[in-house]
Amino acid sequence: MANDPALSVADPQIAELIAAEERRQADTIKLIPSENYVSKAVLEATGTVLTNKYSEGYAGKRYYEGQQVIDQIETLAIERAKAVFGVEHANVQPYSGSPANLAIYMAFLSPGEKVMGLGLPSGGHLTHGWSVSATGAWFTAVRYGVRQDTGRIDMDQVRDLALAERPKLIFCGGTAVPRTIDFPAFAEIAKEIGAVLAADIAHIAGLVAGGAHPSPVGYADVISTTTHKTLRGPRGAMLMSTEEHAKALDKAVFPGLQGGPHNHTTAGIAVALKEASTDEFKAYAAQVVTNAKALAEGLASRGFDLVSGGTDNHLVLIDLTNKDIAGKPAAQALDRAGLETNYNSVPFDTRKPFDPSGVRIGTPAVTSRGMGPAEMDAIAGWFDEVVEAAKKGDEQTIERVRKEVLDLTAQFPAPGLG
Ligand SMILES: *Cc1c(COP(=O)(O)O)cnc(C)c1O
Repeated sequence: MANDPALSVADPQIAELIAAEERRQADTIKLIPSENYVSKAVLEATGTVLTNKYSEGYAGKRYYEGQQVIDQIETLAIERAKAVFGVEHANVQPYSGSPANLAIYMAFLSPGEKVMGLGLPSGGHLTHGWSVSATGAWFTAVRYGVRQDTGRIDMDQVRDLALAERPKLIFCGGTAVPRTIDFPAFAEIAKEIGAVLAADIAHIAGLVAGGAHPSPVGYADVISTTTHKTLRGPRGAMLMSTEEHAKALDKAVFPGLQGGPHNHTTAGIAVALKEASTDEFKAYAAQVVTNAKALAEGLASRGFDLVSGGTDNHLVLIDLTNKDIAGKPAAQALDRAGLETNYNSVPFDTRKPFDPSGVRIGTPAVTSRGMGPAEMDAIAGWFDEVVEAAKKGDEQTIERVRKEVLDLTAQFPAPGLG
């Protein structure tokens, strides 16, 4: 159409900013454990005319006409989710992880009722009942934590708290948890008090799909996940369960919380799930863990204090207290060197959440670029050099590392870019 110009013509400002972000993503080492690179195929499916369509309801029961194609796309996404995770029911409509979790509350709790989740400072997510979240404001939250001596979730405390407080809903999983979640142990505790167990696998969904982390299926009543972290799909979320809870969850998502699903995202999720069902993805998931262990070892050998001493998954949480630098200035210096991380609280942090003691890193994105243990050791070396340089205000070293990072990123092109 003559008056339907390309983005670069219609809005050069935004087009240039998108191009700049693409260059930034290509030229930096993405160590943020909740981020990844989607494939070209996922990217393509996400940016389509499916964004034009309203589809309130579910396949076969919609409130708008014209669903001949959308019903097929959503059904494919659901069937693929069921096959990849081995679940009886899947809902692919939640807009993102936080609304997906809110749908779990909507399905099982009334306002004011009790939820138990891992506290934010111990690596839990805001939506597991933290005070500043709607889930903490509208429900009564009790929080378990990690043991100070091991940095691991304190299952004795989980059981004691559960028996004393008798929450109706228990969340397991988190956002800064470097160790395997013991789903059978949580299930036993939930069963003992008749609580609903929700496993939030937002961070580890790709590892679960690829067999690199135990699955919560058969233990959790409900499984919630984002689709854009280790699962390598577009920004979105899914809820999964046995047939028993299917209706309650579907009703909570729509009409309980949401209107029309984001059909372009649903298509991207379907493509990502197809990719996640391959042997190649299994190898990817295993490599993510191998790389995280290599990165953890590289850091530990350079004197870094790792929460829980290491990692079982894709994530490493570093307590910088012994290095005499806070998380924020370290993360900022690392970013100047082209190493993208996020500063994070560590368990029992004595500093404030906006200026905490730790840095959180992970290997999903670097593994998507095809990097391996040798590159992880190089990254650990740069990490150490930059942290020491930041303490001395040595910008020259940071600039030198920036150049070395560029040499490496040029050798490992990221999926979906360029
Ligand atoms: C990322 C995350 C979420 C929230 O996902 P958003 O898409 O950012 O809303 C929920 N739970 C856990 C454990 C997460 O890591």
